[in-house]
Amino acid sequence: MNDRYSRQELFSPIGKEGQAKIRGKSVLIIGAGALGASSAEALTRAGVKRIVLVDRDYVDWTNLHRQQLYSEEDAENQLPKVIAAKNQLQKINRNVEIEANVMDMGIEEAEELISGIDLILDATDNFETRLLINDLAQKYQVPWIYGACVGSYGISYTILPGEGPCLNCLLDKIPANGQTCDTAGIIAPAVQMVVAYQTAEALKILVDDFKAVRRKVVTFDLWENQQMQLGMEKAKKKDCPSCGPNPSYPYLERRSELKTAVLCGRDTVQIRPSYNREIDLEEMEKKLVSNGNVRRNAFLLEVQSDSRRLVLFKDGRALVHGTKDIAEAKSIYHRFIG
Ligand SMILES: [Zn+2]
Repeated sequence: MNDRYSRQELFSPIGKEGQAKIRGKSVLIIGAGALGASSAEALTRAGVKRIVLVDRDYVDWTNLHRQQLYSEEDAENQLPKVIAAKNQLQKINRNVEIEANVMDMGIEEAEELISGIDLILDATDNFETRLLINDLAQKYQVPWIYGACVGSYGISYTILPGEGPCLNCLLDKIPANGQTCDTAGIIAPAVQMVVAYQTAEALKILVDDFKAVRRKVVTFDLWENQQMQLGMEKAKKKDCPSCGPNPSYPYLERRSELKTAVLCGRDTVQIRPSYNREIDLEEMEKKLVSNGNVRRNAFLLEVQSDSRRLVLFKDGRALVHGTKDIAEAKSIYHRFIG
């Protein structure tokens, strides 16, 4: 048992000293889908002190082809992902504290979860939460690692507080209106590639090897055999409200949260995005068409998913019919719209 980490310690940039550092660190992983589950496994095996997991969803059969921690039994029992993950992670390494939070993380929860955290891994499926993470990380001076994948494509970017452009600086450079796993599908190796990039960066940060941290955005497409690194130095905005000299952390203000309201007596939840997102309904229709029943007119687009119906307007506002559950409505919104 004593030589459990010997091969990791033999790797000279980590060494025994690095391993001792890893052992003292706490990591917040936001999202326990494909990226979150695999990153959590990697860091549990690496021997961190504590992993804090947050996710609002439960294990579903459509997750099993890529979400490596989960089993058929978990899907059958509809176990919350963080609970299923914790069960599995504790079998892998009993010395790591795993904290499972079944929640839809908003600003208040985020400000509580950040306490004692050394690093944040982004494993969410939407930009709303990423912008919140970005402000949280800047405010509390915690590094965070952005990661996303869809189809055979993936992207990762490490954001160190007080350094290089943050996600808010890059907002108009990274497409926020792209495909999602529920519209374009996803292959497991694309997940594992992003996880490899994110957890390699995580190890560098956990052992305080900041010199080694990748300063560029890395993207790849495993099916198209493409790989790219993009320098972002010039994208830094001098007066960025998140990482500039006079930050206001706009996404940590209550009014910036995804606005949701249950429409009275209609079994419908209305959702309004916090940032300006014009939706090209024609493009969106093309993305969603393989997903089932889609209809569109000049003003709105409607997509049917099981007993739920999502109606999307040009300004990004949506109505989710067939539910009064705000968390479920948000989950449907992010699944289709991103
Ligand atoms: Zn910024």
